[in-house]
Amino acid sequence: MSAPTTATRNAVYQRDGRRCAACGVMALTFQHRRAVGMGGSKNVPSPVDGLSLCATCNAGCEGVIQAQALRFGWKVRRWVTNPERVPVFYPREMSWYRLEGVRRVRITHTVAMEMGCSVYGAEWLAWHEAIA
Ligand SMILES: [Zn+2]
Repeated sequence: MSAPTTATRNAVYQRDGRRCAACGVMALTFQHRRAVGMGGSKNVPSPVDGLSLCATCNAGCEGVIQAQALRFGWKVRRWVTNPERVPVFYPREMSWYRLEGVRRVRITHTVAMEMGCSVYGAEWLAWHEAIA
């Protein structure tokens, strides 16, 4: 996964309300929901591959908040071929969304759980039972 185009970066920031999806600050970086491949893939990320995060939260997705990032769809497992299928939780809004191109569609918690389960199965359930 290489750097996003300027258009994709701007569309993702616009979609996410120009705030860090995790903590709400307005200084943004482009979080790659799918890990950037070793040696750098030639694939240019699409808007559903990206999320607006501040530099601190972006770095945290590979570290201190990694478990939360997976649970909330800010990051997806490397083998997930279509990140559109993994819902995203925006804690500032206390809402789950389905990413759809450059748009996001608010969904119920139930739908989010169904989407997550269809991708991750028991692993998704375990992540969400832990905080239920
Ligand atoms: Zn943040």
